[in-house]
Amino acid sequence: MTWETVIGLETHVELATAAKLFCACTTAFGGAPNTHCCPVCMGMPGTLPALNARAVELAAKAALALGCTVAPVSRFDRKNYFYPDLPKAYQISQFYAPLGRNGAVELDDGTVVGIHELHLEEDAGKLVHDRGRGQTLADFNRCGVPLIEIVTEPDLRTADQVIAYLERLRETLQYLGVSDCKMQEGSLRCDVNLSVRPAGSTELGVRTEMKNLSSFRAISRAIAWEAGRQAALLEAGGQVTQQTLRWDEDRQLALAMRAKEDARDYRYFPDPDLPPVELDGAYLDRLRGEQPELAPARRARYQRDWALSADDAATLTGQRALAEFFEALTALGTPPRQAANWVMGEVLGALSARGMEAARMPLTPPTLARLIALVGEGKLNRNTAVRVFEAVFDADGDVDEYVKAHGLEQVSDAEVVAQAVEHVLAACPGPAADYRAGKEKAFGFLVGQVMRELRGQAAPAVVHRILREKLEHTP
Ligand code: ADP
Ligand code: MG
Ligand code: ZN
Repeated sequence: MTWETVIGLETHVELATAAKLFCACTTAFGGAPNTHCCPVCMGMPGTLPALNARAVELAAKAALALGCTVAPVSRFDRKNYFYPDLPKAYQISQFYAPLGRNGAVELDDGTVVGIHELHLEEDAGKLVHDRGRGQTLADFNRCGVPLIEIVTEPDLRTADQVIAYLERLRETLQYLGVSDCKMQEGSLRCDVNLSVRPAGSTELGVRTEMKNLSSFRAISRAIAWEAGRQAALLEAGGQVTQQTLRWDEDRQLALAMRAKEDARDYRYFPDPDLPPVELDGAYLDRLRGEQPELAPARRARYQRDWALSADDAATLTGQRALAEFFEALTALGTPPRQAANWVMGEVLGALSARGMEAARMPLTPPTLARLIALVGEGKLNRNTAVRVFEAVFDADGDVDEYVKAHGLEQVSDAEVVAQAVEHVLAACPGPAADYRAGKEKAFGFLVGQVMRELRGQAAPAVVHRILREKLEHTP
């Protein structure tokens, strides 16, 4: 029997607000335990939550970009459960009236992934297990950090599709400035709901939900493992139990965490402390107007307008700030092909050498545009330009000043080059004779010598022309 895997994802994303969802505490990652807390996010009796408008805005931007219908009125509900990472013993979430519904994301392979809903909620704290002392410690810094939870329809079939969906989601949310989506810091966390069914069947099988998936690689492996486990169980005449599993990346297997609870277990009810969120048409129109051009549209445009390859377009749009930097270069008159080469080569190289994101890059487009223009005008050769690039990158230095101060202008003055050529030919009669005897290799050697003579600053084309002339016209 062949089995088809069916997957739906629940993804939690931390919003890039400065303050928490219902209090003014910072959302900064890390910090000494329990220093980013106040009576509100600690759930002290008598406190009242006050909704962070910026979180609503980011959530609504995300919902719009994912094609959701944004509810004119959405509400907050309490999800009740007892666990030591949740001091209030309930999480404020949206259950009956979520912010967004009925969205869709189309993957490059044509798969349309339905977005069942997108809602706002607060994060819980973290438990730190100190095995040495046999203690579990609670850090409430993360309590109340704003999250959106994005729930897909069970439209995914393979691990590759899951990764493609998550990459698209991450890219979209980063472009919008909604979240930094750093899996290693937990600002994007994904739970995988998975079932299998006989190929061709249209009914859904019983599913499990896997948690603790901390990287794309863990997600891929967990999917393969769980699909295999369920298929083997069914083949052997067994049944899948609906439950929540915890992926163990060290051991490469999933273990039962708890029986899957359903909505009734959470005793959801409307939070009486919070008024409904009302978003009118003008507000949503403003958000739509602020939406930047997203990566897929840019990729298509780069290929269409500038004849860049799909790979180059993908590299250039990998970060919004990088794409904007590249586009700014072209707007300053740099030919797109050259701009692309510099951005994908030197710029990305410099960023990665510094472990820096494009958004933090000190170098500005006019500086690089000027540098590229100097190469185009024959005033700098490419190698010298790379040296200048490295020198001006960190402080966005002045290219012309640097070139002048270090005497780096390219020598294309024919007389100066001719003089150097004559020196070299006089000093190296052997290679010159070799060349005349037909050994083309000797030519490269002589070019190198002339370049050295001119401190690497000669225009290669001029050196080649004059050297050939002299070699062929003087015996
Ligand atoms: P709950 O809220 O109880 O976790 P939902 O019905 O909202 O359950 O579904 C949660 C996630 O599980 C969704 O992403 C959904 O697409 C997915 N899902 C639901 N049923 C199945 C199934 N039989 N196989 C795989 N995924 C499923
Ligand atoms: Mg759920
Ligand atoms: Zn607080």
